[in-house]
Amino acid sequence: MNHEDGRHDKRNTTPKYERAFYIGRFQPYHLGHHKVIGMLINEVEELIIGVGSAQKSHTTIDPFTAGERVMMISKAVSEFDIPFYVIPIEDVEYNSLWVSHVKAMVPPFSVVFSNNPLVERLFYEAGIPVRNLPMFNRGKYSGTEIRRRMIEGEVWESLVPKCVADIIYEVKGVERIRKLAQTDYGGR
Ligand code: ATP
Ligand code: MG
Repeated sequence: MNHEDGRHDKRNTTPKYERAFYIGRFQPYHLGHHKVIGMLINEVEELIIGVGSAQKSHTTIDPFTAGERVMMISKAVSEFDIPFYVIPIEDVEYNSLWVSHVKAMVPPFSVVFSNNPLVERLFYEAGIPVRNLPMFNRGKYSGTEIRRRMIEGEVWESLVPKCVADIIYEVKGVERIRKLAQTDYGGR
């Protein structure tokens, strides 16, 4: 960290973290995530965004594929002036090995930003510092709420960045999740 390489924010002398890790399932990426990242760019030089449960798709809880989520995140985050890496991470049903699994998949990082208690605990036990984040309008900016609105036919577009809504239209995401919400007991 020095002044010559321009890595110091001139308005703020607090050194930035070199590279930080932020993980979610991003089913879908929404404005809560987007506001968090908008805040993180002031605190970190580079950001690694882990796309968790990468192997999951085509369920009402995890409707989008890893590739679709990578596309949503990449398009939305490119609006910010920060180098970033979007990396799909499959689940390992073995919590005590999860941090090693993450470290094997992503570039090196020195801090984790998360509010997820399990994620916090696993990184804490691995000796990697974890910082908490503010929650923005959690009632609305929530994957669960957005998926519920899609299934119920309510307005969801205002809860995600415009480029994310366009991707969801492109992959016929609403049609997909509504189909997945049906049962074979009739009625719908
Ligand atoms: P779901 O309801 O499917 O769990 P989610 O909205 O919690 O979706 P995740 O992908 O699980 O989205 O979240 C990734 C990270 O973003 C988590 O650490 C979560 O706490 C955080 N997060 C989610 N919503 C918000 C929000 N509105 N403001 C700030 N952080 C959020
Ligand atoms: Mg969540």
